[in-house]
Amino acid sequence: MKPTILIVEDEPAIVDTIQYALETEGFETVCAGAGSPVPNLLSERRIDLIVLDIGLPDINGIELCKEIRKHSSVPVIFLTARSDEVDRVVGLEIGGDDYVTKPFSPRELTARIKAVLRRTCASAGSESPTAFAVMEAKRQICYFGEALTLSKHEYNLLKVLISRPGAVFSRDRLMDLAWEEPEASMDRTVDAHIKNIRAKLKAVRPDIDPILTHRGVGYSLKEDL
Ligand code: CA
Repeated sequence: MKPTILIVEDEPAIVDTIQYALETEGFETVCAGAGSPVPNLLSERRIDLIVLDIGLPDINGIELCKEIRKHSSVPVIFLTARSDEVDRVVGLEIGGDDYVTKPFSPRELTARIKAVLRRTCASAGSESPTAFAVMEAKRQICYFGEALTLSKHEYNLLKVLISRPGAVFSRDRLMDLAWEEPEASMDRTVDAHIKNIRAKLKAVRPDIDPILTHRGVGYSLKEDL
């Protein structure tokens, strides 16, 4: 079955270019010139990935991605005309999987789409990389077959990282996802918990550090475990 890519972009020339490139590569495409049709499109048909312009006429692409994330984990690649670092980080922080800066070549975008699809398909089978096994009911995580002894927040944090290998989570985002009362804690707390988790993982496998630190941004889980 051909993967279906939803292109959300208001500039017809860009839509045409992307659509042509993707169909040439064997993808199905669906197009929306604004953000408002997107929720319905997602509930009506199978969408494997969204190419999402940030500058849409009716809603900011970042806001739209936040809405999408409430119901769906469909991969999102942002198109942005602004190339400064803040925008890039923001794009990843709100649950996007990658971004491409305009002007971009269709070849570059196609390569990014394929990479994201490979990544998400690889983790779709088990919902987690093979090194980890999450047993939700017991609130337990096994690492290379060994059950880890984790505190409540350590478990929540690690589960978030395992849910999307390769995705960079900011400290704020980790707090939102792993704490029930995020405002009660400080940024540093995330670092402290990550440090503890790392020590526990290291006790099982001293040769691997599966958690990557992204300076000034946050953390991700290594993809190729
Ligand atoms: Ca636009």
